[in-house]
Amino acid sequence: MIYRPYGKTGRDVSILGFGGMRFAEIDNKEKCVAMMVRAAEGGVNYFDTAPAYFDIKSEQVFGLGLAELRRRGLPYFVATKTFKSRAEDVRGEIEAQLGRLGVPAIDFYHIWCITDLANWRKRKEKGVLDILRKLKEEGLVKHICVSSHLIGGEINELLMEGVFEGVLFGYSAYNFKTREQAFNAIRAKALGAVVMNPLGGGLIPQHPELFGFLKSSPKQSAVSSALHFLWDHQDITTTLVGFSTLSDVEEALAAIETYLPRSAAALAAVKEKAGVSLEGICTGCGYCDDCPQGIPIPKFMDAWNQKILGADSAAVLERIRMHWSIEAKKAGECVACGACEAACTQHLDIINRLGALAAIKS
Ligand code: SF4
Ligand code: SF4
Repeated sequence: MIYRPYGKTGRDVSILGFGGMRFAEIDNKEKCVAMMVRAAEGGVNYFDTAPAYFDIKSEQVFGLGLAELRRRGLPYFVATKTFKSRAEDVRGEIEAQLGRLGVPAIDFYHIWCITDLANWRKRKEKGVLDILRKLKEEGLVKHICVSSHLIGGEINELLMEGVFEGVLFGYSAYNFKTREQAFNAIRAKALGAVVMNPLGGGLIPQHPELFGFLKSSPKQSAVSSALHFLWDHQDITTTLVGFSTLSDVEEALAAIETYLPRSAAALAAVKEKAGVSLEGICTGCGYCDDCPQGIPIPKFMDAWNQKILGADSAAVLERIRMHWSIEAKKAGECVACGACEAACTQHLDIINRLGALAAIKS
């Protein structure tokens, strides 16, 4: 296993992290615990969960798994999250989480899922930062972190608070161009950089031909090549894989065994090839993002990317609503002024795409 420093915290974490959001059999506690033990035996020491994963069951299973790791003397850090913002709600949530996880403190605690700045400002107004600072002073939280889907430079508004020691964000071989600017902001602050969704929600292994540019040998699997790609970014602290089964854990540990870091120049060449392979994909550059109708075009084009990669209508709608927290009907407010298409670096047919997205029936 390879370990990297988590920002300026003085903690060293494994480059492969355990994500607790995809257990195939959450009610089979033995199987879930066995997965955590196998990962820890393989050197994984970063375990990430959340209260909404399986409606607190993931945190409960983590409690059992962490107890087993302690019993076996296997080291770990635990990370979890909150959507809550008011002081009494956050305190109540953390007390419940400590109980479920069976730990005296949470190592990495995240303000969860900031998708837009208005949402962030509301949560801040309600006092989420103040209460987390207090809980840290009390020793219940060791490091305050944030999980964000903000793209472009918007994330700077969060990071200028100076309170966050790490950021959980989406970055993968599929969407790295969309996320590069946000990643640069995280890099500039030398924060812990934890990557979620490394396989693009399964799209990368489902489309190995599209992601062949990642492979360092013809026989390499899509999962292995996608993880190697991320590990090649020396400033990604850890990459969370949401494991479903024990064989997923074995596959990711095997990818560690075969990992031979590429040079920065070799990585840049791989990224360059992606531009050719992913034709028609919105790169998230943001040059179009000045719509007079206030349509968040890069977010809708990200949803269209899912369609290009084979997602069905339901999955595209879910991307719009759940991931980006917007309504598909907003796309229907386009008045076809053409400004965005004129600005688009990839010459995409944005107006048609928005029309099709607005027409998807739920
Ligand atoms: S064409 Fe539509 S989406 Fe593009 S800038 Fe004009 S109104 Fe906005
Ligand atoms: S300008 Fe084009 S490629 Fe860039 S974010 Fe907008 S739609 Fe995507």
